[in-house]
Amino acid sequence: MSPAALPAVRFAPSPTGRLHKGHAFSALTAWTTAKALGARFILRIEDIDHTRCRPAFEAGIYEDLTWLGLTWETPVLRQSDEGAVYRAALEGLIERGLVYRCFRTRRDLTMASAPHGPVEAFRGQALAPAEEADRLARGEPFAWRLSLDRALSALGPGTWQAFLEEGSGPEGQAGRIVTRPELGGDVVLARKDVGVAYHLAVTVDDARQGVTHVVRGQDLFEATHVQCLLQALLDLPQPVYRHHRLLTGPDGKRLAKRDGAETLEDLRSRGVTPAALRRELGFD
Ligand code: GLU
Repeated sequence: MSPAALPAVRFAPSPTGRLHKGHAFSALTAWTTAKALGARFILRIEDIDHTRCRPAFEAGIYEDLTWLGLTWETPVLRQSDEGAVYRAALEGLIERGLVYRCFRTRRDLTMASAPHGPVEAFRGQALAPAEEADRLARGEPFAWRLSLDRALSALGPGTWQAFLEEGSGPEGQAGRIVTRPELGGDVVLARKDVGVAYHLAVTVDDARQGVTHVVRGQDLFEATHVQCLLQALLDLPQPVYRHHRLLTGPDGKRLAKRDGAETLEDLRSRGVTPAALRRELGFD
């Protein structure tokens, strides 16, 4: 079989900090899934947000995954090198009138929803041409948002309306899941400062790298709804999804970089071996 015909699984970390046990669990889950399927294993560096990503963290990813005993295809795709590809996908959506410029700031959106309630999924539309031209002339920053209304009428009913979950969502969702892109509203696909946003880059890359099984944490389960919609809009195949549980700390909260979860580098320096960590995480 040619490599393109094989199933493929990816691990797609963002180099915004050193990896911790939660990442090790995710990487090992993807790796063991790939081995069980006889699939290619792909490492992708999701470094589109240059304000948060650092080369040292990228180097840390290679070091930590090698220490864990993983190997991956080379060259590794780094999203920061691929701006032209995402731009082309965005241009296509612009030409078809499926996206619009949104000048609202995150603060505007928070103020618009209930004071202590969740931020409502935003739905909007393009400004009147004169106002838009005016704001552009003033150099105001904007984001490109997907118009859910337009996307839904462009697509009509289709296979994008459901996906196959072979793992489970945060509420135990499994099997055929009906997509609910309205949960995410008109998502941002590109920003002025960061040329492309997560949903667009991930959808384009999963397809062009031939990813057949998306293995990732349950925190991204809801992202699947809009990603299936984007696949259909861009005429890309839909992979199978396997969301996995998230590791939690002693406080019951999921391990996170921002809460200072112990890094794999820390574990290593206090003598933890990869074999011991794999065992602790339930592998082997
Ligand atoms: N880069 C994302 C993260 O580190 C993962 C994206 C994905 O698996 O779809 O959370």
